[in-house]
Amino acid sequence: MKALATLVTMLGLVSVGSAGVSAAEPSAKDFQRVVNEAHARYKDLKDGKNADYIPILTRTPSELFGVVIATRDGKLYVAGDVDYKFSIQSVSKPFTAALVMTQQGPEVLDEKIGVEPTGLPFNSRMAIELYKDKRSVNPLVNAGAIAAVSLVQASSEEDRWNKVLGNISDFAGTPLTVLEDVYESEYTTAFGNRAIANLLYNYERLYSDPEEAMRVYTRQCSIGVSARDLAMMGATLANQGVNPLTKKRVMPAEHVPELLAVMATAGFYDESGEWMYTAGLPAKTGVGGGIVAVVPGRFAIAAFSPRLNEAGNSVRSLNAIRDIAGELGVGVFGPNPN
Ligand code: GLN
Repeated sequence: MKALATLVTMLGLVSVGSAGVSAAEPSAKDFQRVVNEAHARYKDLKDGKNADYIPILTRTPSELFGVVIATRDGKLYVAGDVDYKFSIQSVSKPFTAALVMTQQGPEVLDEKIGVEPTGLPFNSRMAIELYKDKRSVNPLVNAGAIAAVSLVQASSEEDRWNKVLGNISDFAGTPLTVLEDVYESEYTTAFGNRAIANLLYNYERLYSDPEEAMRVYTRQCSIGVSARDLAMMGATLANQGVNPLTKKRVMPAEHVPELLAVMATAGFYDESGEWMYTAGLPAKTGVGGGIVAVVPGRFAIAAFSPRLNEAGNSVRSLNAIRDIAGELGVGVFGPNPN
């Protein structure tokens, strides 16, 4: 597998880590082959278990598994269950951070939320007490994501929600809708997140009514997406903020690197170091089982499978994406071993 990456490097076909610089892409055949192989390799892996703190997620069939590559010109290479609609959960977080950047600039995101990885679980309350300066710490953990929703400039709760949903739909290039049963299941049990929202409000690090932020944040996490949708959202980032299919500019190109930097340092929560060490790609995970990784300037790799490891990251998805990154030799710091 490493042979392909080595060959590509030897032939000097790829400028390593060169976002936006012209590079010969793997052929359609190679893209399809690595997707098929990763799917076949992990489809019988049973490690991990469905999220259960959101009761309804225990009911998602655990065997579902889909793998997709979406290129910056909108070509898709798929294997497995790539059309099943699952809840986006935390994979939504970088995209709302992008909306905050688009509306108010990257400095506001840094000053009012923060960009430091916590090294702690996604729902950590301790992080809010530890990091006394920024409190919410970064937009990819729950605290920072709830703060990001509260920071979206909007005239009402309805307007806030429409902006959040419209933005994520624009990234996907298709209108998305909420899985209402997931919303009900999470909103009625979200006492931990409610504590986070109230704690941030107490420290003046939440920028709307806490319960409004909770409702919009929980709806955001309940948006239904397929693995195809996630791949297209990632391809929009790979394509410097322009959706490959609709051609709509969703965020300014100059802020894509800042967003990818946060995904690289915090996208896997307390496993982000391990992820970057072994896969080398900015990525974001969600407890619905979805993950999207971005090869800057080139393409996105997405996968979906419900069983999670201890950190809340999909076991099959992370293995599949890591293998594909290794086989294609596309780690941002250079071809990573596989
Ligand atoms: N909605 C989930 C929560 O707030 C998202 C967590 C996740 O996907 N890691 O707990």
